[in-house]
Amino acid sequence: MDDAHRQLLRQLPKVDELIEHFRQQAIGRQAPRRVLTQVIRQVLEQTRQRLLAWPSAEVPAIFDKVGLWHEIAEQLAKTQRPHLMPLINASGVIIHTNLGRSPLAEAALEQIVNVARHYSNLEYDLAAGQRGSRHSHLEHILRELTGAEAALVVNNNAGAVFLTLNTMARGREVIVSRGQLVEIGGSFRMPDVMRASGAILREVGATNKTHLYDYENAIGPETAMLMKVHTSNFRITGFTKEIGLAELVALGQKYSLPVVEDLGSGCFIDFSRYGLEKEPTVTEALATGVDLVLFSGDKLLGGPQAGLAVGNKIYVDQLKRNPLTRALRPDKLTLAGLEATLRLYRDEPQALAAIPTLRMLTQPAGEVKRRAQSLARRLRRRVAPETQISLVPTVARVGGGSLPQIELPSWALTLVHPGWPAHKLDRALHETTPPVIGRVEHQKLLLDVRTILPEDEATFLTVLAGLLRNSEAIS
Ligand SMILES: *Cc1c(COP(=O)(O)O)cnc(C)c1O
Repeated sequence: MDDAHRQLLRQLPKVDELIEHFRQQAIGRQAPRRVLTQVIRQVLEQTRQRLLAWPSAEVPAIFDKVGLWHEIAEQLAKTQRPHLMPLINASGVIIHTNLGRSPLAEAALEQIVNVARHYSNLEYDLAAGQRGSRHSHLEHILRELTGAEAALVVNNNAGAVFLTLNTMARGREVIVSRGQLVEIGGSFRMPDVMRASGAILREVGATNKTHLYDYENAIGPETAMLMKVHTSNFRITGFTKEIGLAELVALGQKYSLPVVEDLGSGCFIDFSRYGLEKEPTVTEALATGVDLVLFSGDKLLGGPQAGLAVGNKIYVDQLKRNPLTRALRPDKLTLAGLEATLRLYRDEPQALAAIPTLRMLTQPAGEVKRRAQSLARRLRRRVAPETQISLVPTVARVGGGSLPQIELPSWALTLVHPGWPAHKLDRALHETTPPVIGRVEHQKLLLDVRTILPEDEATFLTVLAGLLRNSEAIS
């Protein structure tokens, strides 16, 4: 080590001195002492390594103490924020699995807080004064909404599929069309789930075409059930043939075999009435006489993560008796949020107005445009004129493997700043509090307004204005 380096390293503040400095400030007092010490040690060590790596000719005579303080403060702020945190979804994908799928309705949030804050009758039968079942709470409302005889809620739809296969077909064959062996989000592949559940997959037909006789020819003494899987996140188009649920149910009845549909998303509202593609509702699926319908709580339903199994009481009771149900049971917060969400569906206009997922899905493009115009106007007032803020028409998606064909007309803000390439702006917005997730298209950052919650608009503007004001410092 030469003199210049030695001279500079001698100026590095001591750990105790830095602790004392930060104890005088809010950010230092908020952190537990152990965390504060650890962060200081870490940043000091990194600084030391950095200084040593400098060529001697460039070593400054005076150490930048303020720079060090900033770095420590920044690291401290990072340790203070939770790892799982809310963010603003400006991606234009409504049911974004990576971004937590469905934000909940106010009524659901209230009920979750209410049940979480107090004791509850989770597994207590108040009328009988004895132990009850957590599975009793949602059965009534699910029967009312879907017309099903019985219902069971588990942790998620993957769990509902797994439980159904394990209960009804362990060691036996399940007949599924080859065109429906879907993979959802990498970790859920129908053939893999089937194997793990102990059921034996019997694929029939070709990828593009499956006929009724394909199913019928595969039926034998080992057949436990017939299954239809909603091809959630893709469509096979062109020269295709898929057997409808009603035909499959008729075949099941002919051979006394249960028929199960994994509907994936599952909805209670006929979206074709709101200008969207026709998706069979849970009620319509059940009307075919299918024995069980399985679907998610947090896709098109717009509730918390859950898996719902509705249908024939004989089979729902079998599911309930499987010891695996204990491992897949939903917690009380899920039940509270789901019940409140389901109650909103008793009145369709109320559901559409109160459930954020449905609101975003059905908001007319004109309204999205008005919101985008207002956001652009307010943002222009808060940033320097070198940032160009404009509106572009774009296309939002439903996501979550739901309605994959649908392109929802939408409007996005684009920001163009001379010092900021779009990808850099995009990255910087991942570091703000809260982060904002947009998308880069043709070297432009797009912030789709359809998926920005109205109650987040003010925060969205503050975050953007703050970032663009500091743009010199960052770029
Ligand atoms: C999404 C989906 C699942 C998995 O549901 P989760 O609630 O995410 O567990 C299963 N099957 C189909 C067809 C799906 O679309």
